[in-house]
Amino acid sequence: MECSQSDVLIVGGGLSGIVASIELLSAGRRVTLLDRDVEENFGGLAKESFGGIFVVGSVEQRRAGIHDTPELALQDWLAFGEFNARDHWPRRWAEAYVHACHDDVYLWLKAFGITFLPIPNWAERGQFTPGNSVPRFHIVWGTGTELALRLIHRLRTHPNRAALTLKFGHCVNSLIVEGGRIVGCHGSIEASGVPFEARADALIVATGGINGNIERVRQNWHTDWRRPPQTILNGSHKYADGTLHDAVHTVGGRLTNLDRMWNYAAGVHHWKPDKPDHGLSLIPPRSALWLNWRGERIGPQPLVTGFDTRDLVTQICRQKRQYSWQLLNRKIALKELAVSGAELNPSIRNKRRLAFLRDLLFGNRWLVDELTSNCRDFIVADSLPELVEKMNALQGDNAVDRAALTEAVFRYDAQIERGARLHNDEQLRRIAYLRKWTGDRVRTCKFQKIVDIHAMPLIAIREFIISRKSLGGIQTDLDCRVLDERGMAMPGLYAAGEAAGFGGGGMNGLRALEGTFLGGCIFSARRAARAIAREE
Ligand SMILES: Cc1cc2nc3c(=O)[nH]c(=O)nc-3n(C[C@H](O)[C@H](O)[C@H](O)COP(=O)(O)OP(=O)(O)OC[C@H]3O[C@@H](n4cnc5c(N)ncnc54)[C@H](O)[C@@H]3O)c2cc1C
Repeated sequence: MECSQSDVLIVGGGLSGIVASIELLSAGRRVTLLDRDVEENFGGLAKESFGGIFVVGSVEQRRAGIHDTPELALQDWLAFGEFNARDHWPRRWAEAYVHACHDDVYLWLKAFGITFLPIPNWAERGQFTPGNSVPRFHIVWGTGTELALRLIHRLRTHPNRAALTLKFGHCVNSLIVEGGRIVGCHGSIEASGVPFEARADALIVATGGINGNIERVRQNWHTDWRRPPQTILNGSHKYADGTLHDAVHTVGGRLTNLDRMWNYAAGVHHWKPDKPDHGLSLIPPRSALWLNWRGERIGPQPLVTGFDTRDLVTQICRQKRQYSWQLLNRKIALKELAVSGAELNPSIRNKRRLAFLRDLLFGNRWLVDELTSNCRDFIVADSLPELVEKMNALQGDNAVDRAALTEAVFRYDAQIERGARLHNDEQLRRIAYLRKWTGDRVRTCKFQKIVDIHAMPLIAIREFIISRKSLGGIQTDLDCRVLDERGMAMPGLYAAGEAAGFGGGGMNGLRALEGTFLGGCIFSARRAARAIAREE
């Protein structure tokens, strides 16, 4: 058996584990970080992420003429999150985050040389529930890859580097309790199966959420979403399976709000999967028509992204078959099609300014070609009848009703044909509204018809619900100390990042204002490290 001893054990080498390690090394502690994955994947989901971070009161906001305050952000957060009476800790975390994110997340990252795109994105404005009153989604120039790599570099070159032990391929499966205190963990080495024991004065669980385990996602499916869909794609970490959630629960820790998840509505199959049903999450084109499994437009409120991601999922799960279609053409795709994450945003990821501007101005040909050639959920055709035939062939039945689909397209196109003065369609009203914000105008067509000889060919995308983030998790207090069923802190045990629902077992509540995940990992990991450093 392999044995080790340090001051602090961190389980999980994602963003939260890395940030906690940096801070603990700075506080002079000896740290051991254990991760189940291979070293190449050090950085976890943050490395694959888009790198959008929720910040209040940034320079980028001020330059864009936005006056934002923690009070306004909190008002938005509490409304969007729909907290309930049991959400004492999540609410306190939300309050702490909006007040401290500028200094503790944004300025902290800037000190490592991390910069942001000049105009913040305006995500989650709210549909029937108020959301972000102003844009707050700050995208790291270089995406989450840059974010993770910079912090890993900081860790590896830390002045106290000698006090850090990194162990990859180490899967933790249980915690050791002695004298009422958590003193370490047990697990096994992935490659050999050899067991190991690691001991420390304090242990931080930073193993991510549960959403990489689709069976578990199904078991915790929220009642608002009826039954779980037949197909749920996996857009999370392959090891985000909740093993450490269970280990914490076994020793008496409290798990909360596991049915609160941040899943997305527009998942498509990855053509180079690294896990079963590996999905990519599309940013759904706003000028596309969003149709149900039969080819009927979903309504009465048409689905348009940018307002309430959770509601999009709810609407699709309300349908008899819980997947959908988006119908568009190449011109719309060139301007609006995007995929969340670093992988399919190479110009931002590799910080290529000219390529980024070219894609914005002239359309992202590379991405559209990549998706239409490789992804099995994309269909291209020159006419509506051909498109419907191919949609039905893909699905393997005759579910799409050609007449219904054609009617939906013609009605919508006719509205556009009549001219903006006479538009009387909620999707067109929303497009007009979205285009008022520069960050959206550059990515949204100005009232584009679907059937348009100058915009062909037609494209249909079959979209599934894709699992992504766990909003709930291990409950903690503001020092990230894990709480037991009586609400008492468990000596020696801490949780941070997605494992802790980004703080308090679910600091977002029911919905997230976006960018609060990466931000929440940094914020909670720093708080955990500070609390441990204070303890001695
Ligand atoms: C494509 C994509 C785009 C995203 N974009 C954004 C964005 O723009 N903004 C935003 O805020 N959020 C975004 N997110 C979400 C964000 O990246 C994650 O919520 C965040 O990175 C989670 O970090 P973490 O450290 O808590 O957990 P993870 O990154 O999940 O890391 C957990 C680590 O623990 C390890 N581990 C798990 N189980 C064990 C075990 N039993 N033993 C040992 N080790 C274990 C794993 O191997 C992993 O390395 C995105 C996510 C994805 C996938």
